[in-house]
Amino acid sequence: MGVTYRRILLKLSGEALMGELSYGIDPAVVNGIAEEVSEIAESGVQIAIVVGGGNIFRGVKGAAAGMDRATADYIGMIATVMNAMTLQDALEQMGVQTRVQTAIAMQEVAEPYIRRRAMRHLEKGRVVVFGAGSGNPFFTTDTTAALRAAEIGADVLFKATKVDGVYDSDPTKNPAAKRFQSLTYSHVLTNDLKVMDSTAISLCKDNDIPIIVFDLSVRGNVRRAVMGESIGTIVGG
Ligand code: UDP
Repeated sequence: MGVTYRRILLKLSGEALMGELSYGIDPAVVNGIAEEVSEIAESGVQIAIVVGGGNIFRGVKGAAAGMDRATADYIGMIATVMNAMTLQDALEQMGVQTRVQTAIAMQEVAEPYIRRRAMRHLEKGRVVVFGAGSGNPFFTTDTTAALRAAEIGADVLFKATKVDGVYDSDPTKNPAAKRFQSLTYSHVLTNDLKVMDSTAISLCKDNDIPIIVFDLSVRGNVRRAVMGESIGTIVGG
């Protein structure tokens, strides 16, 4: 296939693995995602994935319930490792070599995050899944995705979500909501549009990493995005 992007950073929210469930992981949904990833990995595209943990635990929620925020965030980061390992399992069952690297060392289950090693895996055609976020509390996995994308020199950041792009108002509440084809980083930041948090957008802006927001539940969308088809909203300079 005629690919536009050679090295991509795919950000999957924890909720993307949840499907219709209200908590945790739906194996059928994970398999669907793994199939899409496997298809593009076979075509030679280098894929790194940052996975969230919102399907299991969110630091902000823990803090709202009275927990120490940093402790709650560490629990959230550990939750992302469960998701990372689940994805690895699904991918490897499909024959895709996959490595999980975690920002908090847990060497019995995954490699520690080592940038150069991650890049070597990618060059060898292995999918790399980054777990444990950035390793720092008070951050998000969206920011981690922007950070890792910059670190590994990704051509693009794919922000896979449940909606087919960025709208001027909430499309689930306003039937007249308009979808943007493209946006600038500055527009997103000034208007506080819900693409990713502002730290993540700023990092992408400073490092010229385009962000493509698209609906993951539509089969074939990851491939379409890799081929440069206009399937959602692109945020750029
Ligand atoms: N988290 C963190 N530092 C990071 C990344 C994540 O503390 O660098 C914690 C934070 O508590 C967050 C949780 O991990 O709520 C799960 O990540 P996130 O909410 O970004 O997941 P998503 O919304 O993508 O499912």
